[in-house]
Amino acid sequence: MKFNTKAIHGGQKLDPAYGSVMPPIYQTSTYAQSTPGGHKGYEYSRTHNPTRDALENALASLENGSFGIAFGSGLAAIDAVLKLLKPGDEVVSTNDLYGGSYRLFTKIYKKFGMKFHFIGMENASSIEDYINQNTKLIWVETPTNPMMNVIDIKTIAEIAKRRNVLLAVDNTFATPYLQQPLDLGADIVMHSVTKYLGGHSDLILGGLVVRDKELADQLYFIQNASGAICGPQDCFLALRGIKTLHVRMQRHCENGKAVAEYLANHPKIDKVYWPGLQHHPNHDIAKSQMKDFGGMVSFVTKGNNYNEVIKIVENLKVFTLAESLGGVESLAGHPASMTHASIPKEEREKTGIVDSLIRLSVGIEDTADLIADLEQAIG
Ligand SMILES: *Cc1c(COP(=O)(O)O)cnc(C)c1O
Repeated sequence: MKFNTKAIHGGQKLDPAYGSVMPPIYQTSTYAQSTPGGHKGYEYSRTHNPTRDALENALASLENGSFGIAFGSGLAAIDAVLKLLKPGDEVVSTNDLYGGSYRLFTKIYKKFGMKFHFIGMENASSIEDYINQNTKLIWVETPTNPMMNVIDIKTIAEIAKRRNVLLAVDNTFATPYLQQPLDLGADIVMHSVTKYLGGHSDLILGGLVVRDKELADQLYFIQNASGAICGPQDCFLALRGIKTLHVRMQRHCENGKAVAEYLANHPKIDKVYWPGLQHHPNHDIAKSQMKDFGGMVSFVTKGNNYNEVIKIVENLKVFTLAESLGGVESLAGHPASMTHASIPKEEREKTGIVDSLIRLSVGIEDTADLIADLEQAIG
């Protein structure tokens, strides 16, 4: 099955009860048993729920995986991966990272005796220096948030395999429409389904996809034992969003390109970060591992003037000033004071998150309206 068909049908079957085409929302905590243990595979909804099963199968199908595991948020999904580890274990992670992931690693797991190395992975082989016998996990985001660095998943996967370390890829920005990390050798794919997969800014949900049965069983155990599951209503919304992923992504990419090129030619703009631009440092890797370049665009104004940048984001009218990304509507964010405020300023600036950086999640509105909005706001 090709991707566009999978987005609509992947992992789905007609409801056995009445043949409903859409998966029913099984809004139930428990299931009747005819005799103790006599049930139809469902006992309690923390452990299993048919609507969640439908979503987990859809996620697995989209990522060319075998098992999907859904959670109440993207961070709950990351949390489950970290629970595979134990005190003394070490993690090598990209340094330009979703702020919430950084907070989870450093404020929660560090105190349980785990060690994290945050490094630039644009030169993939450089990670070797940080791998030792305690290293259990490599955590990669690509493209990174918000600097849009692109990391060579295949090369990192080869190193991970050789050194016997798990490789997890946060595929939230790219989505499986653009890039499928399991095919490139990753062990775990993670999604904030909240973003592009849901696609309509109306839910919080997370997911993992793996191929290995033993790893899946460990993660299902954690899902049930820790209990950070998502409710059936949200699973339904996520499934509905996924059905249009491919058409939305196509438009996100077209509008992302138009906005990136407009900004790159603007006299008041200093730098534009979008992997589709020729001058992007890892444009070639992006071209080889991604189908297109996505709708996330970051940029820095000339002069690095904080007040001027705040005025730009306040003046935008079609773009809404808000956290999050990946919905049909365009959003603008100021990472230094919003999404990445939990990362210390000096750490932030080391990776390029200066005060004048603006991050756009380019939506699927009319391209001309988006450009006109940027034009009036930047001046
Ligand atoms: C939003 C986001 C997360 C966290 O997901 P939630 O659903 O908000 O918990 C993780 N990684 C990336 C790249 C994100 O954008």
